[in-house]
Amino acid sequence: METLYSVLLPLRFDKPFTYKYTGEDDLSHGQLVKVSFRSTEIIGVIIGKTNESHGKLKEISKVYRGLKFEESLIKFIGRVADYNMVPRGLILKMVLGGNKHFDKEVKFEIEAHKTISNLVSLREEQQSALELIQEKLSQNQYSSILLEGITGSGKTEVYLKAVEELINQGKQTLVLLPEIVLTTQLMQRFEERLGFKPVQWHSSISPKEKKIYWEAVFSGKAKFIVGARSALFLPYRNLKLIVIDEEHDQSYKQEEGVIYNARDMAILRASLEKVPIILSSATPSLESIYNVKQNKSEKVYLSSRHGTATLPEIKIVDLNKEQLNKGEWISPTLKSHLEEILASKQQSLLFLNRRGYAPITYCSNCKTKVECPDCNFWMVEHKKKGVLQCHYCGYSIEKVQKCTTCGSTEKVFALGPGVERIEEEIKKLLPDARTVLFTSDTIENHKEAEKIIDAIMNNEVDIVIGTQMAAKGLHFPKLNLVGIIEADKNLVGGDIRTLERTYQLLHQVSGRAGREAEKGVVIIQTYEPESALLKNLSNGNSEKFYEAELNDRMEADMPPYSKLAIITLQSISEQACLDTADQIAAHIPETGNITVLGPSPAPIFMLRKRYRYRFIIKSAKNINMQKIIAHWLSKINLSPRVKLKIDIDPYSFL
Ligand SMILES: [Zn+2]
Ligand SMILES: [Zn+2]
Repeated sequence: METLYSVLLPLRFDKPFTYKYTGEDDLSHGQLVKVSFRSTEIIGVIIGKTNESHGKLKEISKVYRGLKFEESLIKFIGRVADYNMVPRGLILKMVLGGNKHFDKEVKFEIEAHKTISNLVSLREEQQSALELIQEKLSQNQYSSILLEGITGSGKTEVYLKAVEELINQGKQTLVLLPEIVLTTQLMQRFEERLGFKPVQWHSSISPKEKKIYWEAVFSGKAKFIVGARSALFLPYRNLKLIVIDEEHDQSYKQEEGVIYNARDMAILRASLEKVPIILSSATPSLESIYNVKQNKSEKVYLSSRHGTATLPEIKIVDLNKEQLNKGEWISPTLKSHLEEILASKQQSLLFLNRRGYAPITYCSNCKTKVECPDCNFWMVEHKKKGVLQCHYCGYSIEKVQKCTTCGSTEKVFALGPGVERIEEEIKKLLPDARTVLFTSDTIENHKEAEKIIDAIMNNEVDIVIGTQMAAKGLHFPKLNLVGIIEADKNLVGGDIRTLERTYQLLHQVSGRAGREAEKGVVIIQTYEPESALLKNLSNGNSEKFYEAELNDRMEADMPPYSKLAIITLQSISEQACLDTADQIAAHIPETGNITVLGPSPAPIFMLRKRYRYRFIIKSAKNINMQKIIAHWLSKINLSPRVKLKIDIDPYSFL
């Protein structure tokens, strides 16, 4: 007997391929098989029977008995692909997590889960948050909880209690974290509380570990999985809870390759698995606040801090009044606080969201900035490495002694501060202070992160100078002063989420101050002391900030009140870009359901020597924009010289 099956392959194809099977048995939906494709053997998954056949059919060469995906996972693959307009095969590839075959037995080496119960006791408000989670868990259906609480209010302890119960019942929990390089502290805490190491899943674990962990998740043996975005795609056996920690964090949005938002896809997965999802944050995303307003999510709020810790006191330094000398960025007020903290042997954090020494190298003779030859952006000086570097493409050149445009040697200088320059200033102001830079330039992996974190924990550091990396979830008991070098609205780009991101970032970095007995102090230097954002921040009035921001978005008809997408065209030839853009423009759908802006040059008009043009598409929330776009683009003959990228719910507008 010969049966034909549709087999989805982990390749850049949306449609399955037909293979024949001559075995006696019926292969079920979700069954993993081995097939040959263009002379290589690969894993595929059966997604149905078919009568369609073209030409000579190949045979399914092996059936992996006992390896079968759940129906909900197959659905998830399809829904993620459709939503993000990505071929199904690429989503399957993520689900397979690097597995190329299952021909060798894998020995599980993960640490056995113990039945444990040594969690700290909860405060009353934590207890009622836990009770809500327990109630949702008992309902065996999808629900969403926004767990909001200031830094140090014990959100983690709440969900760990729920995790503990699930582990004891033999069920799986997934916790997604944004910045995996900085998770050492949190991992230690998980291990301390639960008595074993959770299974970790992120890009820097080895292929061998990946294989072990993947199978442990698939078999259901791994009960507690902590990972980055990609952990969302693992083939869970009996997943009962998903937690998105720091749910507002923009790194949940994957911008390269398959573009998707892991937070939003986690919500989708929870709904398909019929389980609760917890979105945890001190500064929730506007999307999550909106969902609470729409009754799509329930909010629990933790208002107080643990033990004796109190909220930091926020002081605003008006830089219009307290003027700085040329080439200086630390005000007398901030300096005197730094001295005080230094004298009392505590620690400080200086925050500036700019890597390197100076963002601009400027020639006052010809009035130009040194730009990247491959991008339309200027080069950032990194003094320690002795280079100018483009932060968009990574291109770097040795530090210039003369202007690249006019050749002047005298009038070229560094403009504005980066963290390295702040460190230089500290060395002049407080020569005895021991400093460390906390940025993605000094911390590229777990090891480096651990080294620096240990140094801070062991009091080998007095002043930490960092970018947004230093704002994320770290806990240093002796850190009692945070100085924000420049808090202005353009702290993080200029798009619809600028204010939201600035607020979240300042709130987060402020939360680093004073988590133990001492009351922390936050000094914010700014030229805009009257801004509503800073007022709400220093009064601790998050709700007011969110109200105002939601209102602005509603009036502008922007997300979360509407949906956006961006189509970007890239090519080494500007003409090819323009020709394709014209073609796409000529076919803009006439439905009244979407609005299309463009084509126009992207703000980063040139990136890695490629020209960039784009369209911005907007629709109401209830419109299936993806379907309209797919139909529209199906009429386009894409030149092989042009790369087309679709970004649904964009976070980057560059
Ligand atoms: Zn560049
Ligand atoms: Zn010049």
